[in-house]
Amino acid sequence: MATNPVDTRVIVVGAINVDFVIATVRLPGPGETVVGPRVDRHGGGKGANAAVAAARAGASVELIGAAGADDTGDGALTDLRDDGVDVGAVVRTDAPTGVALIVVDQAGENQIAVGAGANAELTAEQVRDSLTDLRPGDCVLISTEIPGAAVLAAVETAAAAGARCVVNPAPPIPEIADAVQYGPILTPNAGECLELAGMLGADSDTVEEAATALSEATGSAVVVTLGGDGLLVGIPGHGVERIPARAATVRDTTGAGDTFNGVFAARLAAGDTTNAAATVANVAAAMSVSYVGARTGMPTWDQISATSR
Ligand code: ADP
Repeated sequence: MATNPVDTRVIVVGAINVDFVIATVRLPGPGETVVGPRVDRHGGGKGANAAVAAARAGASVELIGAAGADDTGDGALTDLRDDGVDVGAVVRTDAPTGVALIVVDQAGENQIAVGAGANAELTAEQVRDSLTDLRPGDCVLISTEIPGAAVLAAVETAAAAGARCVVNPAPPIPEIADAVQYGPILTPNAGECLELAGMLGADSDTVEEAATALSEATGSAVVVTLGGDGLLVGIPGHGVERIPARAATVRDTTGAGDTFNGVFAARLAAGDTTNAAATVANVAAAMSVSYVGARTGMPTWDQISATSR
């Protein structure tokens, strides 16, 4: 496996949330209150989670996003700084920090409500202003729980600077139809892949067909994450290749996709090919599912290299 160069920059543009998790005997019905013994607070948001994964994998990481000027936002940014993520460009807003309220019952079934809060306030202008010093070797990783205009601005700016660009289309927002002309690498899961191909007018019967259609639309690679079935990597003109998942003891798959995206971006910034970066990220994501909590099991570069040998 390649060594990890020090000067690899990943710039993540995406959501910052705080997750409040309450474990209860059963999920509440409409109008019902169910009490659990404690509240757990975790850092969340696909952008922030992927930024942590990339930083642990050894990249220099800057996060562009928005958090409220409140205690929740202070806590979220402190957690990110502790993981080595540069949050200097995070905008602080009057709107409160994004929050996910998660109730988990004894069977592991959950119910989640997300308040976008500050994430909904991030503007295209703020994104452009924060991306003025991009270099061609940088990798810009964008997730779509922020306004579509901000996503599009990030993709355009990355393309203009000649930087690598990865878009995790979760959820598959309409602006992706415009963004594909700039050639980002898309990293949907299976459902998102089929939905995006449909959005682009290429209704597909299989995920393989949808991945091929997407890679033709972007002229770039498409990497489809398939949970316990691993990955599909579609390269324009080279068809679709399946990479099986690494065997894992599954305790909690929350954050597996974020781990995949963060490590994938870190390895692209380190100069890996798409296939090599996806292979390493597949290993890292499998390592993450053995721990409870989105960020708990995100591995360091040393752990990834030791496991990949
Ligand atoms: P998302 O949560 O975004 O839908 P996936 O569930 O597809 O993402 O998981 C992302 C990646 O995490 C997978 O492609 C794989 O590399 C890894 N992964 C997820 N679940 C497992 C599992 N049960 N065993 C091994 N690896 C897994």
